[in-house]
Amino acid sequence: MQPDNPSPAVPALRLRGVSKHFGELTVLDNLDLDVEAGERISIIGRSGSGKTTLLRVVMTLEQADTGIIEVFGRPLGWRLEGGRRVAIDAKANRAVRADIGMVFQQFNLFPHMTAIENVIEAPVHVKGEARASARERGMALLQQVGLADKADHYPRQLSGGQQQRVAIARALAMQPRILLFDEVTSALDPERVDEVLDVIGALAESNEITMLIVTHEMRFARDVATRTIFMENGLVVEDDKPSIVFGNPRMPRTQSFLKSIL
Ligand code: ADP
Repeated sequence: MQPDNPSPAVPALRLRGVSKHFGELTVLDNLDLDVEAGERISIIGRSGSGKTTLLRVVMTLEQADTGIIEVFGRPLGWRLEGGRRVAIDAKANRAVRADIGMVFQQFNLFPHMTAIENVIEAPVHVKGEARASARERGMALLQQVGLADKADHYPRQLSGGQQQRVAIARALAMQPRILLFDEVTSALDPERVDEVLDVIGALAESNEITMLIVTHEMRFARDVATRTIFMENGLVVEDDKPSIVFGNPRMPRTQSFLKSIL
């Protein structure tokens, strides 16, 4: 917390005791996490450590087995009542969920829609925004990701990097306050990685969106983030400034992970 800002702000995201199992496998292990508004957290760790599942639980694509999640102080999925979890109603849940957007490894664009149609689909059909204004905003977003000239192209006519930039514009079109990035460069040809990272980097500089970024791009994880989390076996092992996690990690397990990938 800043010394000149003594009143604690409501966290953008608050997880308490969140667990997730797949059969016998514990993928998230009683996880606690507070994310302040405006933070950009890079999440690193070995494959299988639970990073993607953490994002998917926050996105409500997976249901946590235990624990609670709050988004800007409002419960997502469940609220606590006398120590018990009680499901919140679907409409309230959708309203809370609307603050969160996600960009996926595999882009997930609608193949039968052009870039601009992909971007305006949810604003028009989920939010009920007028087509003309959605289109105007959508074009500005395509401009922002450097693809205004590709607005009428279909995904198959775009490179992987371009498709991923459309996917970022599509997520932004819903005006999320929290944006989740799940290994968004892993499916790209190496020469296409930087154009996507540059878009995310510019986004990080130019606005206030809180970001959780799962990535194997360690330089990016260090440079774009205000905070880095190292996960192992569904637990947060280290949680600190990127300069510390990457430069002088406190935990031997973080050190050995970073050594193993260098
Ligand atoms: P990471 O993103 O760190 O690689 P994941 O969150 O994707 O880790 O996965 C954690 C573990 O959970 C892995 O062992 C993975 O195989 C398993 N897992 C993930 N999703 C499912 C699922 N839907 N069903 C069964 N096992 C899953």
